[in-house]
Formats: sequence, structure tokens, C-alpha cells
Amino acid sequence: MGVAKTYGWQNVFYRVGMKSAEALRRMRLCEIGDAQALNGLNGPQAILIDYTQNPAKQYAHEWGVGRDKDQYFGDCIIIKGEHSGVEWGAFLDAGVIPIAHSHPFRRLPPNLDRFEARKHQEQYGNANSLEEPCGWDWLIRENDQAIGARLKILPSASDFRFCANKSLAIHRVETAYVVRQVNGQGGGTLYEVQNPDGNGFDPAAARLNFNIYDSVCDSFVADGASQYRARLEACAGSTPFWRGTVIAVDAGMFFTFRF
Ligand SMILES: [Zn+2]
Repeated sequence: MGVAKTYGWQNVFYRVGMKSAEALRRMRLCEIGDAQALNGLNGPQAILIDYTQNPAKQYAHEWGVGRDKDQYFGDCIIIKGEHSGVEWGAFLDAGVIPIAHSHPFRRLPPNLDRFEARKHQEQYGNANSLEEPCGWDWLIRENDQAIGARLKILPSASDFRFCANKSLAIHRVETAYVVRQVNGQGGGTLYEVQNPDGNGFDPAAARLNFNIYDSVCDSFVADGASQYRARLEACAGSTPFWRGTVIAVDAGMFFTFRF
């Protein structure tokens, strides 16, 4: 009786019979601050009312979706996380399988000085807007310029660590970025990652999402850093457009990726 145990918890939104498709759809709406995202769900009323009135608060933190471990098509819950991540511990103890979490899109309000900008990011999480759209091929190529964009766009090294530590066969990371198809000169299709509110935003473009498969910790490198290896699938909405192996090095404050 995994998820049922967590009903009524302070940070849980649910309804009996909610399956993963509905929970993921609602989580995606939270990521873009849709005031209707959690409509009709049970959960702490004060928070639900606050989100309806201040929908931007919904992307001040991450969200998680967990599923009942006793049934493959079991009921799901939506978990309100922190801006640095979802605290899964008590849910794991209650028998919930973490199937997905979100990386909300955050843009700094304009005209903040450095002090105000730092305060804002401490309260709402680090801004991850892209200065300009970037190509997927550019993002994964080994180069120094892409490091900043990778940290914003890709699952974090701690996501790979979490999947490895919990032996998750698959875990989904939903982003609020969109991917737009661009026809390449050779007839191939290129993908461009855009902000959801950026210049040239294509409302028909699909969200960029990731599936992490079979993450393992395959070595320890210097200074307590760990290296994780996983298969990563990048999807436009639910359609995969790239698959590869990613190596994520987690050295506390320092993350890096290799492909
Ligand atoms: Zn994450």
C-alpha cells in the first residue's frame, strides 16, 4: 500500500486513481506556473489556494512523481520538493517508487542588482534561462563553451547518483525547455533547445525530457568525487530523439559530464 500511506502528508497532492500519465501532465503544468495545475486534487488546502493565487510559486521548487510499488500500474502522487530537489527518503520508506521529477524553468526578474539577484536565487533557486537557444548537437559535443548550458539543461550529477543509489531501472527528468526541430542541410533533423518564454518560442514545440536508465557508480575519482555512468535518452515530449551514454562526475559543488 505504498502511496496510500502518504496521503495527508504536508507536501503530497493526490487523488485515488491518479495514474502516471495524469501525474506527469500535472507536474509539467506546475513547471510553467499554470494556476490550474493541481485543480481537483487533495492536499494541503492553504498551499493549493496559494498556488492558485500565486502560480509562479509552483516553479520556485522541484516536483516529484512517485508510484505505488505494489502495482505496476499503481496510483501516483505528486510531491512538492525543495528548490534544490525532492526529499524522497520518507517516501521511499513508505514504499513509493520515484518515477520522475521536474527541473522548473527560472528566469531572474529584470533590473535586479547583484545583491538582489543573489537573494532572489537563494529564495527561488538558481536561474536557468538560456541566453540564446542552443543546438542539441552543440550541447553534447565535448567543448568548454557548452558546460554552463549542460548544467542548466541536463539532469544533474546528483540525479545520476540518486538513480544509482536507489537502483532505479528508469527515472524521468522533466524540463520546462522546449525542443524545436530544425532541418539540417544533409536532410537530418537537428534539435534546438529553447526557453519556454524566449524569443522565437514555438508554441507547437515539444518539451525536452530525459529518461535515465541503469545508472551505476563505476568509479571513485580524486578528492571524494564519484563517477556515474548511465544511458540517457533525450525526448521531444514522449518521443526519443537522442540516446547515448553519459558519464557524470559529482564532486560536491562541481559537476561535469562526458559523452
Ligand atoms: Zn534533478
